[in-house]
Amino acid sequence: MEINRHFLGLKESYLFATVGSKFSAYQAAHPDKKVIKLSIGDVTLPLAPAVISAMHAAVDEMSRRETFRGYGPDATCYGYPALIDSIRGHYARRGVTFEAGEIFISDGAKSDLANILDLFARENTVLVPDPVYPVYVDTNVMAGRKILYADATAENGFLPLPDEGTEADLIYLCSPNNPTGACYDRAGLKAWVDYANRRGAVILFDAAYEAFVQGELPHSIYEVEGARECAIEFCSYSKTAGFTGVRCGYTVVPKELKRGGVQLGKLWARRQSTKFNGVSYISQMGAAAVFSEAGEREIAKNLSYYRENAAVIGQMLDRLGIFYTGGKHSPYVWMKCPKGMDSWTFFDYLLENANVVGTPGCGFGKNGEGFFRLTAFGTKENTLEACRRIEDLLR
Ligand code: PLP
Repeated sequence: MEINRHFLGLKESYLFATVGSKFSAYQAAHPDKKVIKLSIGDVTLPLAPAVISAMHAAVDEMSRRETFRGYGPDATCYGYPALIDSIRGHYARRGVTFEAGEIFISDGAKSDLANILDLFARENTVLVPDPVYPVYVDTNVMAGRKILYADATAENGFLPLPDEGTEADLIYLCSPNNPTGACYDRAGLKAWVDYANRRGAVILFDAAYEAFVQGELPHSIYEVEGARECAIEFCSYSKTAGFTGVRCGYTVVPKELKRGGVQLGKLWARRQSTKFNGVSYISQMGAAAVFSEAGEREIAKNLSYYRENAAVIGQMLDRLGIFYTGGKHSPYVWMKCPKGMDSWTFFDYLLENANVVGTPGCGFGKNGEGFFRLTAFGTKENTLEACRRIEDLLR
């Protein structure tokens, strides 16, 4: 037998492993120092009370014969109507309407972003922004697809626009972006939608951080005309509502999206009913409470907490006169390494002299070299203390 040799083409995912081992080695050598991590992409606040009581109620239902549930409903690929309707309501509040059959419940955005590739032939060319969430690249390397990169740089505000000369079939967009925190406006998204529709390409739109968008910027690609004909959107309760450990998300495949004369939603439903068996009823009921009135109110408080952390980091960099982007529509602040340092040199410098850990930008792609990602997902106390230390060091 032959293994899938494309796996051998994967780059070692050394970024977070190296960050972790450098942190552990430093802490072991200096047990008296309190090292603060502003590197985490995980949330720290607990679930909202509305979510907790919905999950408790669901557990109670599971305890009684009359209300016990097994597999979820087949007709909607195991998504419960209460959850699907709450997601439809969430979109409708922004003027975007979907039928129940266009929304698929997932165990989070990462799996669906990877699994969606089952629908597309290996011969398709993929376009990925650089720097980028590594999952888009690695899943396509595993499948042996050709990958092109769209440069996201300070010059284009880390928001690359389509180049008519690029022949891409599958296009990944992530807005608000991990790692740069940059967020497309309608005109930017429209340019991509028009490009995709002209080429017959498909956009895979990762909206995992949509809850952080403020003001008039779009939360969903479907706020732009023409997107229903070319885009699949992936969303998640992970960062919106602290579900990184609970696991629940949703993927939208509009009925209008057809390629090769086939509705992609039909292929996706077939794929899911064959290779997936749904998300736990308890998680789905917790998720359905997120977009309830109480849930929205409580989650807004958690989002403000993280936003305030992001503002503290941004203000510190403003005072130091260091270039950065993100932090406003995103929990991530993407800063230029000071004094011309490269990403890993700055990582070591910060760890050793301020006892603060961040994420080297070079781990997200070649354009990340010389940049550094700080996150707002820590506690307020740690964020304030870390910023004080960074400012003392770099002043
Ligand atoms: N997309 C982006 C850009 C992310 O940063 C993450 C998680 O960090 C995900 C998707 C995955 O989220 P989930 O927990 O829903 O799988």
